[in-house]
Parts: sequence; C-alpha cells; structure tokens
Amino acid sequence: MSGRLPWHQAQWRIVDDALRQGRAAHALLLAGPVGIGKQVFAQQLAQRLLCQQAAADVATGGEACGQCRTCLLFQAGAHPDYRFVGIAEDKKSIAVDQVRELGRYLTLTPQYGLGKVVIIDPADAMNVNAANSLLKTLEEPVAGVTIVLLSHRPAQLPATIRSRCQLIRFNAATAEQAGPWLLAEGVKDAAEAALLMSLSAGAPLKALAIKSDNSLQLRDTLWQTLETLAEGRGDAVAAAHQLAGLDKTGGILPLLDWFSSGLLDILKLKAAPQMPFIANEDLLERLHKLALGIPVQRLLSLQDAVRKAAGSVERNLNPQLILEDVLIQWQNSFVVPRPRQSA
Ligand SMILES: [Zn+2]
Repeated sequence: MSGRLPWHQAQWRIVDDALRQGRAAHALLLAGPVGIGKQVFAQQLAQRLLCQQAAADVATGGEACGQCRTCLLFQAGAHPDYRFVGIAEDKKSIAVDQVRELGRYLTLTPQYGLGKVVIIDPADAMNVNAANSLLKTLEEPVAGVTIVLLSHRPAQLPATIRSRCQLIRFNAATAEQAGPWLLAEGVKDAAEAALLMSLSAGAPLKALAIKSDNSLQLRDTLWQTLETLAEGRGDAVAAAHQLAGLDKTGGILPLLDWFSSGLLDILKLKAAPQMPFIANEDLLERLHKLALGIPVQRLLSLQDAVRKAAGSVERNLNPQLILEDVLIQWQNSFVVPRPRQSA
C-alpha cells in the first residue's frame, strides 16, 4: 500500500494548506471509524513532516519523497525523531510512564533538525494519569514537535485534550471514492466492492479485511444457524458449541459483530420495510423474513445482550457460555410456535 488514499483528499488539503502557510498545528486529533485509514494517514503525515526533500520544497508541498535519507530511515522504522506510543502488550491502556517518558524525549534536540513527530494510537486508551500528563505537554508545546492523536472514540478523550488539538475528521468513504482502490487491492468486481463497503459502513480498510479474513463465510454460517433457531429447530447450546469453535484466531467477537450488524438491519427493516438502507444488503430477503417473526422490543433487548456479550468476551469469560446466552435469547424471541413433540 503506497500513496495517499483516495478518500483522504479533503483531510490532506487541510494539512497541506497549513504546512504551506507555515501554520501547522502542534497537535492533531485524527478521528473517525475503525478501518478508515487513520493510521495510514498518520504515518504518511509523520514521514512527510520529517522528509528533507519536502521540507526544502515546502512551497510546492505534497507527499514525502520516499528517497531522501530521513525517508529511508522512517520507512525502516529507525528515524530517531519519530515515536509511536500505543498500548503495550498484555496491557489494556496507555500508562502514565509511557507519556512521561515521551515528555522527556521531546525536550531533546531533534537529530535531523526537522522537528519531531509523535503518534499516540489509540489516544482514548490513555488512562487518566496518562491523559493528564499529556495535557501538560500539550499546554507547553515544544517548537517543532507535532503530536498526532488517533481515536475512533474521540468523545472518550478529555475535553481539555480535544480542545488543544486540531480536529481532522474522517467520515465514511463512498463506494465511488474507494471502489477503484479496492479493485486494485484484489476485490473481484464493482458489485463485491459495493457489498464490502456496505458491510464495513464505508471503511475501506475494514472492507478489505472482511474479504481477506473469510469473514463472509463466518457471517453465512452464523445466519444459517440463527435462521434454524428462529424456526424453532435446532438446539441453542449445540449451536453455541459449534459456532464457538469456528474462529480459532478471532474468538467470538467477529461473530458478535456480525450478529449485531444483522440485528440493526432487521430493526431498520421493521422501521422502513419499503426503503431499507441496510449493511447486509445481500441478505435482504433472509433478514426480511426474520424481521416478520420478531417483535421490536425483543430486538432491542437482543442488541443490548449482544453488546454486553462483547463486554464479557473482553473480560475473558467462557466464549461458549456467552454465545449460549445470546442464542437462547434469540431463539426465545421468535413468536413462531415451536413444533410439539408427538406423544
Ligand atoms: Zn524524503
């Protein structure tokens, strides 16, 4: 993947203009959904800010050259004036020590004279102390230092931090913006690109991940199971056992994501059956049929249950039991009479 992403044009315009006019912000907050390419943007921006060629040629602006000494260092992950701060392995948040260390690092003179760039991702994962420590750094900006925060949940950042950053917002991309790029990345045709964009809610990198992870197959198995249960056939416990064993790497979170996405679509179908704007557009008829059998109130409590289930996964509870709970609730939500055992 190289070059600027085609759906980032508006965001680049903001940054390029500021650089050309010599009024670049000390701190940026890149906010937008997962899979929209915030990380790609941040990396390209960092390389751009540290590129010797681009610095010498600031009037024409534009991308990093990719060939100068500092670009090569950056691409090799060895640029001394660049730091990435993320969640350490086995941790759930960014700790205060990481941010304090950053503060010390930023006071040192940059080695290549073009300033320093720091990326903090995901910024909303900073714990309270870490956020307070960063706030001090933001309140006393060091000349030449650019701090880039990334977040898909910017509302979870303290307002004091948000207010000290220039907000660069990334909205869902359209199929027109991302279609040609998806085709170049190996998506079969325009129809598949459109479906993937719909399923990813306009996040092209997520769209690509859905394709490469065999995620669609997982979704199909899930909905086949859910249909069987909805018809009063099959056993929720056995189904949970089978589903829990499907995805060895991702666990059950991808399943819960698909469940949640389908539930939202069913709700939309109930609200506006004639004009459905649903994500799983290829499942329209099947979801329509399910929508007929389940009351809205039940859908709402299922949504809640699936959301809580995802939380339970993060707390490392037994995945099969978590699935059992939501599948039993799903099966019990349907008003079709269960077939009676003949005496
Ligand atoms: Zn360069």
